[in-house]
Order: sequence, then C-alpha cells, then structure tokens
Amino acid sequence: MSELHQLTITQARAALDAGETTALELTEAFLARIAHTEPQVQAFLHLTAEQARAQAQAADAQRGSATSPLHGIPLAIKDVICTKDVPTTCASRILEGFVPPYNATVIERLERSGAVLLGKLNCDEFAMGSSTENSAYQITRNPWDLERVPGGSSGGSAAAVAAMQAPATLGTDTGGSVRQPAALCGISALKPTYGRVSRYGLIAFASSLDQIGPLAWSVADLALLLQVIAGHDPRDGTSAPEPVPDYTAALTGDVRGLKIGIPQEYFIEGTEPGVATAVQRAFAVLQAQGAELVEISLPHTKHAIPAYYVIAPAEASANLARYDGVRYGVRQPGESLWEQIERTRGELFGAEVRRRIMIGTYVLSAGYYDAYYRRAQKVRTLLKRDFTQAFAEVDLIATPTSPTIAFKVGQKADDPLAMYLSDVFTVTANMAGIPGLAVPCGFSEGLPVGLQLLGRPFAEAMLLRAGDAYQRATDWHTHRPTL
Ligand code: GLN
Repeated sequence: MSELHQLTITQARAALDAGETTALELTEAFLARIAHTEPQVQAFLHLTAEQARAQAQAADAQRGSATSPLHGIPLAIKDVICTKDVPTTCASRILEGFVPPYNATVIERLERSGAVLLGKLNCDEFAMGSSTENSAYQITRNPWDLERVPGGSSGGSAAAVAAMQAPATLGTDTGGSVRQPAALCGISALKPTYGRVSRYGLIAFASSLDQIGPLAWSVADLALLLQVIAGHDPRDGTSAPEPVPDYTAALTGDVRGLKIGIPQEYFIEGTEPGVATAVQRAFAVLQAQGAELVEISLPHTKHAIPAYYVIAPAEASANLARYDGVRYGVRQPGESLWEQIERTRGELFGAEVRRRIMIGTYVLSAGYYDAYYRRAQKVRTLLKRDFTQAFAEVDLIATPTSPTIAFKVGQKADDPLAMYLSDVFTVTANMAGIPGLAVPCGFSEGLPVGLQLLGRPFAEAMLLRAGDAYQRATDWHTHRPTL
C-alpha cells in the first residue's frame, strides 16, 4: 500500500473497509503531512486538529454501521464556507475573528456522512482573484513549483490536495475558481450546475454565479463528494428541486457515441502552445475511446469576460455592503459613525475587494445602469443562448481550462486585467449556469495542464462519466509532485 497521505478517497475507503487502517490513523497521517509541508505550501488558514481527531474516533467507533463512502475520510474546506465554532474569514481582515454560530448546508451534509474536518483553506479575499495572492493572510504556493501560484481563488483547496495534505477539499467557483486552480495544480475539480449544491452558509461573492464544488485527484472521487453535497435545500431559495442521480453508478467508462463539441472561440491568441497541445491530445484520447468530435461555434464568448466583470462586481458591491464594522467581524474606531464605517471598509478590505466594490456601485448607479449593468445582462442571455444552441447538437463541450500553466508569484499581481484573463475559458459556464469539469491532461514546461468539459444543466453525471472514462485511459491524475 502507498503511504496513507498519498491515497485518493476511493483508495482510502477500500483500506478502511478492509481494516488495513482506521479513520484516526488516516487523520493522523494527513495531520503529519500538513505539519511537514505547511511551512512551504501555506494552504491552511486554520487547522482543526483536535476536532478532526475526535471526529475520526467517532467514525471508528461507528464502523460497520456506516453507509457513506466519506465515512472517516479527512477533508478540508475553503474559508468562505461557514463552519460552526470554527473561524471563517474569507481570507479577509474584515472577518478576522468571526466564528459562525452555524454550519453551511454542505458542512452539515459532510458531517452527517461521517467525514472528518481537517481545517479551513486559504483563498483570494472573498474569492476575488485567480492566484490566491489576494488573501490578506498568506501566499499559498503551488506544490509543483513553490515559486508559482496555485491559481485561485480556491488556491488553498487545490494546493492542499496536490500537496497531499488532504485527499479532497471543497472550493467555490464564481468564474472558474475550482477549475482553474485544479488545472494549475494537476488535480480534478467540478463546478456543478447553478442550484445543484446549496449555497446556504456560503459567504456570498456574486450570488447568481457562486457554486460550491469539490476538488480531488480523480473524477471518481468527485462523484463521491458531489453525491453527498448535491440536492435540494429549502434554506437556499435558488437551490434546485431536481432529483440527484447516482453519480458513481454513472461512471461506466463508456463514451462511445457521445458528441463532443470543440468551440473554435476557445483556441485564441494568448493560449500557451504547450497548453493547446496537451488539450488537443486529450481530445484525441476521447475520440479513440469512441466519442465523436464536432467543431462548433460559441460566437459571444469574447464578450464573457467584460460582462462578467460588470455583473460579478455589481453583485459583490451589494453583498459586501453588510461589512460595516457594526454587524460582523472587526471594527476600526472613528470619531463619528461615518468615520468608523469609512475606516473599517477602507482599511480592512484589500485593494482588489475595494476595486470591485467601486466598479460594482458605478455600474449600478443611476446614470450608468443601462450602459453597463443592463448591457452585461443582455450579453449573459446571449452566452446562455450560445450554449443552448450548441447543446442541441452536441452532448459535451471540450476546451482548455486555463490559457496558461501556473505563473510566478507576483507576475500578475499588479496587473488586474492580465489576472482577469486567467478565467477566459471558465467564466462562460458560470454566466450560463452550466456545469464544468476540469481534469489533468498533461504537462507543459513540467507543470500541469487541465482539460475542461462543459455539460448541459444538471448533466453532471454525463460530465463525470466522460471525465472518468478519460482517466481510465490516461494516468495524468496519478502524477504527484515531489515536495
Ligand atoms: N477569478 C475570478 C474573479 O476574480 C473568479 C473567481 C471565482 O471564481 N471565485 O472574480
């Protein structure tokens, strides 16, 4: 058997069921790995070692009667998801010391399934960014090359898996934030359909785009996680009442006859040649497995980034209005109430968050609403229509996940526009509300490249089936960094 921290969820499950290890042993192995690698990787904002040991012991005590595949499996969570009695900061100074009195629905579901919580993971402040450099606390490093970023905003969630500090994690994806860091860290991740997973207890960035999604080595593991977190939640008004299929049963390995669309608009200038080559090879693998490749067009793609950077900041400006130093977290003192609010928001939000609030209030203001916000919403409708038309012809769409491999820490930190372009291939799925899967598909300059598969609304089972079939034919998801 491999060392415990190298196991996927599926492998750890088998080892637990065979009595080769215990939940406590597994948990101790990951805690030891965290202690060993954290000085370099810096993925965690908060460790819950004692709670993890207690949960693992409880899981071991219930062995035999457990039914969930996640029973006794250690996991870690992006720090934008509320965890009862465990600090939740959104990697922001403004929420320093905030301890939620309740669990997000996804956390409740994980706890009910017997999963073990190792801790909370670093990210860009309020999930705004593509490198995790916007965290107010620390810079997370890419385990494949410590001078590079892990991607973002769920950079801690991707780096923790790649560094084998946890077999899987949860992140959130508003414009690409589980898929892009997964691609840059050589792991798999899924952004579910909007409404598939409850957002109750997820601290809002852009409410019409945000979705919680799992990150892990294999697609088979993503299926196990989605099974537990998906499903209707009356506490989230946008949660869909769609039934949840058996995702693991959907992994038949068979993609024969599936029509996979290749959109020409996703092979643009600015995509690194090494990325394009790896992704083209992945298409050929799927074709060799019996899928049919079809060239398609998604004509409004080039308007996605500008429209996203109107809509996401507009929603963020409304969602972040609540952080005034009165109701939550930290308060900066001031002579007057106004000065107190101004200092709290001016000093405790980072530069990117303040930039988004300013853009958001601007595009929503009376004189500019029609020119910017309404127009961006029209673009959103056109993007959605592009996909509806494409999915009348094809079952899935395949693209690169990110135009580049992991870039150096600091390389794009002072250039917000260059940073925004990291998500050219991922924001469209959020704008249209459709699911997207990222899987590792090779290396360029020694660093991981990700393939992205997009599907129809609520067609996660088909996406996972194709991703899993690809992983049965390739071994990119089994490569581990030497750390
Ligand atoms: N990078 C994008 C942004 O900064 C997306 C972030 C996300 O998906 N949370 O908004």
